Order: sequence, then structure tokens, then C-alpha cells
Amino acid sequence: MRSICVFCGSSPGNRPEYMDLARATGRLIAERQLTLVYGGGKVGLMGALADAALAAGGRVIGIIPQMLLDREAGHRGLTELRVVSSLSERKFVMGVLSDAFLSLPGGIGTLDELFEAWSWFQLGLHKKPSGLLNFQGYYDHLVQFLDLAVTEGFQNPRHRAALLVGTEIESLLDQLMAASQGAPST
Ligand code: AMP
Repeated sequence: MRSICVFCGSSPGNRPEYMDLARATGRLIAERQLTLVYGGGKVGLMGALADAALAAGGRVIGIIPQMLLDREAGHRGLTELRVVSSLSERKFVMGVLSDAFLSLPGGIGTLDELFEAWSWFQLGLHKKPSGLLNFQGYYDHLVQFLDLAVTEGFQNPRHRAALLVGTEIESLLDQLMAASQGAPST
């Protein structure tokens, strides 16, 4: 695995632990010599993630739609900032450039990105693993719902199992790195 796409909030969250988590994740990704691919903004968890990866000497590629350059304060200090024309193109390019996907706490944009990348796997469009960091229980209800979707017969258990859920960033990253071995880049 050479690159990882991180989805996370454009807000900082209401507790400092969330920004600390984003910084720890950025640092860890850089220390593991992985290229960080993310949404290219300077705000919230997204900005903290990118700043920490850069400060640790990492390579960071941001993908941002023209329409969000101002709202999400396009990060001008990245290794590379690609300006694209739409949200759909952003998700597509982030997917192409990454070997795995990781979601940290965030809002509806983060959820949209998580579900799209994971549903591409389900459809066989790629074989790249997705991970969900259930930090301090933030995603407890979502994980419960996903398991309900399996028991109610709406979600294939094999595809449900393809979303790796962890509570610690280091071990989740280990799992993603192991799962991405042998998964061809598409
Ligand atoms: P949020 O989790 O809502 O703070 O958003 C996190 C990131 O997702 C931000 O960069 C948003 O611009 C982005 N985002 C929001 N909605 C979408 C969408 N429909 N498709 C792709 N990205 C989105």
C-alpha cells in the first residue's frame, strides 16, 4: 500500500480530542511513508490531518472542487492540490489515487464519501479496502445499523465484513495495510 484516502469532517467537532485524532492520523500516515490523499481543504479535521502529515515530512495530495476552494479554504501548502469541477469528480480522483480508504469522524459529506467508496467495492469496481474509525463510540449507532441491515437481509454479510471497523487508529491502519496487499490498483 502506497497511498491512503482519508475522509473526515470539515468541522473541528466539539471536543479537542477530534482534532488531536486528525493530527495523530496525519502523523502516522507520514511515518508509514504513505501518501495522504484527501479533500484538499484547510478547515476542521481535514486541515489538521493534512498539516500534521506535512509537518511529519509526508506527501499530501488534495482534491478539491472549484466551488469549494473558498468555503473549505483550499490548502496551498500541499505537495499537490488538484482543482476539479465537481464533487463526483473529486471522489473519483481520490479513489483512483488511493490504495485504501479510511473514514474518521465527520458529518454527512464524510458519510457520503465512505458509502460511495465502500459501495464501489461491493459492485466490484475496485478491490481496495475501506476502514471506519469508531473513535470514542462516535460511529456506534452507524455500526449497529449496518449490522441490522445484515440481519434484516438487506446487506450481504461478506460485503459488510469488507468494511473494517476499529477503535484505534494504529491497529486499523495495520488492518488496512494487510487487506490492501494483493488488491490490484484500478
Ligand atoms: P463533512 O463531513 O460534512 O464535514 O464533509 C467532509 C467533506 O466531504 C467536505 O470536504 C465536503 O466538501 C465533502 N462533501 C460533502 N458532500 C459531499 C458529496 N455529496 N460528495 C462528495 N463530497 C462531499
